[in-house]
Amino acid sequence: MIPTSFEYKKATSVEQAIWWMDEDAKILAGGHSLIPTLKLRLSQPATLIDISKLAELRFIKDGGDSIIIGANSTHHDIVDSPLVQSATPMLSQGGEMIGDIQVRNKGTLGGSIAHADPAADWPAMLIASGATIRVQGRDGQRDISADDFFTGFFETALAKDEIIIEVHVPKQGANASSVYVKFPQPASRFAIVGVAAVITHENGTCSNVNIALNGVSGNAFRDTAAQAALEGKAYTAANIEAAAAASAEVDDILSDPFASEKYRKHLAKVYVKRALFAANNQVDDLTKVEGIGPKIAEALNAAGIKSYAQLAGKSAGDIKDIITAANNRFASHNPGTWPAQAKLAAEGKWDVLKKWQDELDGGV
Ligand SMILES: Cc1cc2nc3c(=O)[nH]c(=O)nc-3n(C[C@H](O)[C@H](O)[C@H](O)COP(=O)(O)OP(=O)(O)OC[C@H]3O[C@@H](n4cnc5c(N)ncnc54)[C@H](O)[C@@H]3O)c2cc1C
Repeated sequence: MIPTSFEYKKATSVEQAIWWMDEDAKILAGGHSLIPTLKLRLSQPATLIDISKLAELRFIKDGGDSIIIGANSTHHDIVDSPLVQSATPMLSQGGEMIGDIQVRNKGTLGGSIAHADPAADWPAMLIASGATIRVQGRDGQRDISADDFFTGFFETALAKDEIIIEVHVPKQGANASSVYVKFPQPASRFAIVGVAAVITHENGTCSNVNIALNGVSGNAFRDTAAQAALEGKAYTAANIEAAAAASAEVDDILSDPFASEKYRKHLAKVYVKRALFAANNQVDDLTKVEGIGPKIAEALNAAGIKSYAQLAGKSAGDIKDIITAANNRFASHNPGTWPAQAKLAAEGKWDVLKKWQDELDGGV
């Protein structure tokens, strides 16, 4: 179909774009979502305000504790940015799953989150990262947390005269891991279900657990029940299973020809589990886990156990065998109680291993 007629205005500054904004105007950025809605006449604006060439909105910079991404940055800009790759790696890893190369080269971060398609990928990543969206209108600028920004089906907290300027994403902490996983619609690659997880690991337990979902209901949301199931707990397979079981227990699950409500809910739980296992697999420095010093870590690494996830997946007997084989002096160390201690260690009770490490420090 051909869009209804509209006036086209090309903005040369953010202020000019805002000045032109009114009830019947629409911002044009990459056009990858807006043009199809114009052609389907789902949107019939009187004016299109083109901001796509505003260089002042296309940047990625270091903001100290956060990185700041201009609204006109394309998906590819974000995926390709060394700063993003090192400071907020999930955005680079997850952004690469958006559409195809043409979509990533043209579509923008601002356009994606303003459009607020429930199946878009950025919203869950921004919520789980604790991002803030800076918008500007005639009354000046204001910051909206990603948690509060996505208010409903294609709805946001943006006022009619506001445009998105930039997005502030906190840098990932040293002991944190993050991942975005999705079950894509096979043709468009939009998320039928998408899950973002950002988790801090301290002494073998999870803290600051952030899990957000898109594709599941009318807008992306933080899954507080799944988070609560893992917060403060050891990062073990059993606790991941419990968090996945608690996830996606919401009333307004979407249903469409691709995925019924029941199937979507099932998918969401499966993808929460995958996200948590994948994030867990990033905890690859065993010495960060309390109770594992360099000597035990070396023995475990030599046996091919390089991450906490791999360790948690091993039986108490396996752990004992590995450490014993690495240095048979371990075995002479209170052999009667070791199997029980190893079992506790496999369950995430790292204080037991710490005791061993302390005892071994002088002798091995
Ligand atoms: C084939 C195809 C596959 C796709 N696959 C995916 C996918 O897998 N995952 C995914 O997340 N997305 C996907 N998309 C969507 C794509 O990412 C879009 O580019 C994005 O949703 C919109 O960005 P845009 O810059 O093109 O915005 P536009 O289409 O220009 O605008 C979209 C909306 O946002 C508003 N807007 C734009 N910029 C601003 C701003 N700075 N402030 C306020 N309002 C603004 C516009 O007025 C409009 O309402 C796909 C699109 C296509 C065509």
